[in-house]
Amino acid sequence: MASETVLVIEDEMDIQELMRFNLERDGYKVVTASSVEAAEKILEKQLPALVLLDLMLPGENGFTYCRKLRAAARTALLPVIMVTARDEDADIVAGLEVGADDYITKPFSPRVLLARVRAVLRRRATEPEDSADKLVRGPIELDRTHHVVRLDGQPVIMTLSEFRILDLLLRRPGVVFSRYQIVDAVHGADYAVTDRSVDVQIVGLRRKMGPHGGLIETVRGVGYRLRLEAI
Ligand code: CA
Repeated sequence: MASETVLVIEDEMDIQELMRFNLERDGYKVVTASSVEAAEKILEKQLPALVLLDLMLPGENGFTYCRKLRAAARTALLPVIMVTARDEDADIVAGLEVGADDYITKPFSPRVLLARVRAVLRRRATEPEDSADKLVRGPIELDRTHHVVRLDGQPVIMTLSEFRILDLLLRRPGVVFSRYQIVDAVHGADYAVTDRSVDVQIVGLRRKMGPHGGLIETVRGVGYRLRLEAI
């Protein structure tokens, strides 16, 4: 298998080296940059499979750079894992809202780093077109044309809000969606949905999913995601 290239954007040399060492040992090619400016030069020449992006960098920070990557056609779908120094919910939510695929908080264990990198790359490889009529994730099948959800092949009646929440989570397994992002996705289906009532919707959705309800994971202080085990 051809090794995939990971671009590490990190200004702390010991962390940069720790990432390089572990990624290379796991078979990835690694290129490093200590600033956004240096990363831009690298990206002009090559497109990596994934970017590990530190939040606090000298000069331009990781938030604004992630937003730029998403806005440019060439890098819009480039997987980005945000690396945050503090385990602060606000930073994590902000990172996910500018389009990061996942996040890692420092200090991290090499095992967690590699697991996140692998999961994001695997997810991108299996990601269906957004416009697909049907999404199948493990036991869950979501049929957009007929507006039907099936679990283990059995149809389950969902409200429009529940259907839209499930559609959002299924589209990108493993990605954490904040309550605000979920409200946005549901908007139009039910104007009564607020960030707090998202929790109530999730409870209802889990109940209808019966033994598979646990596939919707609560990420404390951040939001919800579909467990990668569901793929
Ligand atoms: Ca830094």
